[in-house]
Amino acid sequence: MEIPFLSLKSTNQQFEEFYKLALADFLSSGQYMLGNKVENFEKNFANFCKSKHCIGVANGLDALILILDSFGFERNAEVIVPANTYFASILAIKKAMLKPVLIEPRLDDYLIDANKIEAVITPNTVAVMAVNLYGRMCDFENITKLCKKHSLKLIVDAAQSHGAEFVNARNCIGADATAYSFYPTKNLGALSDAGAVVTDDEHIAASVRKNRNYGSEIKYQFDSIGMNSRLSELQASFLDIKLKHLNFEISKRRQIAERYLKEVKNDKLILPPSDRINDDAWHLFIIRTDNRSELMNYLKNAQIGYDIHYPIPPHKQKAIPEFNHLHLPITEEIHRTVLSLPMNSSLKEEEVDFIISTLNSY
Ligand SMILES: *Cc1c(COP(=O)(O)O)cnc(C)c1O
Repeated sequence: MEIPFLSLKSTNQQFEEFYKLALADFLSSGQYMLGNKVENFEKNFANFCKSKHCIGVANGLDALILILDSFGFERNAEVIVPANTYFASILAIKKAMLKPVLIEPRLDDYLIDANKIEAVITPNTVAVMAVNLYGRMCDFENITKLCKKHSLKLIVDAAQSHGAEFVNARNCIGADATAYSFYPTKNLGALSDAGAVVTDDEHIAASVRKNRNYGSEIKYQFDSIGMNSRLSELQASFLDIKLKHLNFEISKRRQIAERYLKEVKNDKLILPPSDRINDDAWHLFIIRTDNRSELMNYLKNAQIGYDIHYPIPPHKQKAIPEFNHLHLPITEEIHRTVLSLPMNSSLKEEEVDFIISTLNSY
């Protein structure tokens, strides 16, 4: 039995007829940019997130940059971010001309460690960027308290957590703004690049709306140095189709996660936390193992697809040499040992059986 890590073709196959209708509608509308399809999706996704505003943008990286830009921070002001995040979170801070301050995550759930925030706050600290990595919401109760106490803005990188919950809330409580990516592999994925900013804050919403379109609200009138980061009209209509199935997609992922967590029994493998199975969105199912290359060979022989999220920690990347000297043992341990198992709604019952039995005989 050959099981791919993820087949975008099979996850999209079920929507093909709807995509074709949406394409025909798009062609006949003659409205190719920022029309009612973007507007409809923005309204529907804001509702899904239980938030006031959603502004569609070109991708998740831009969503983060546009949020950071909306605050008008001083150049080189400091933004605290977990050291084990996907590189794009850190890249956004750099692109916004700010300084990332990397802190170690928690080893039990790989998320930003609220207990390590205060120690790195300086007079130049302006914000915390929390990342709901792998589909699990951060500890927003404690993070929000700290941000309030120190007057810091709270930005959430939710590129991996569409549909995740935290104490029954879908908006990241206390966050000033949340950035989403709809890159094709995400829980809610378009058929190209796409992203969104979600916020309850009128000022941030207005700033992002203007700056995704050159800093212009009124045609040919430019109020700020914006960029071109518009959400595609066609992708918005595809996203609206998939949004209706997102709860189903996530419930399937939760079922698979529950099976992995209950049935995988092997001392060589460390499983993710099982305390919030029905809150987490399970974008990725991460296991850890000491001898990862041995496990990779074993899975390859069994024809089970896997991926590594991520093999090189951000502070060891060439792009940011100023961080290369850092010693971050928890982050380095995570990058050395993680492996992602297949996790998506097109996995069949017998494929999950096979993955579990294969891991149990490893
Ligand atoms: C995918 C991702 C991004 C970037 O999104 P793009 O749409 O590819 O720009 C940012 N942060 C995290 C955590 C991601 O997983």
